[in-house]
Amino acid sequence: MKSSDCIFCKIVAGDIPADAVYEDEKTLAFLDIRPVNAGHTLVVPKNGHPHNIFDVSAADWAAVSETVRKVSLAVEKAMSARGINLMMNNREHAGQVVDHVHLHIIPRFAGDGLKLWPQHPYKEGEAEAVAEKIRAQF
Ligand code: AMP
Ligand code: ZN
Repeated sequence: MKSSDCIFCKIVAGDIPADAVYEDEKTLAFLDIRPVNAGHTLVVPKNGHPHNIFDVSAADWAAVSETVRKVSLAVEKAMSARGINLMMNNREHAGQVVDHVHLHIIPRFAGDGLKLWPQHPYKEGEAEAVAEKIRAQF
């Protein structure tokens, strides 16, 4: 089922326009309307309205991943980019605004000024405890 108030469902259905760059049976790739850099592309699954990484099906995720791989090659070449960042926001606190699974393909250029995340070291013993917490989920 599509969501009637989802902007990406509407793009998939052709109800609002988008600059599509690639489409197959399960996925659609189109230009982000407010790009970090020209060529910034979004890839979405076309089947239903999965919200994020937590509820997308394995089959749709596999299809999205393969489209991201193909479109990354095309974007880097077409834009003469020097690299690509893949980005995905899941849930509001991670910066997700559109509630329909999507991956950002962001072409990068020398000196484009985009800063990624700050990092910090673990405290003594912390990494082992964190890894154990995550392992316990499987
Ligand atoms: P996110 O923060 O990961 O949910 O990103 C949503 C992205 O969708 C933003 O980068 C927006 O610029 C983009 N966006 C919103 N509306 C449209 C639209 N109609 N066509 C293309 N991209 C859109
Ligand atoms: Zn949707």
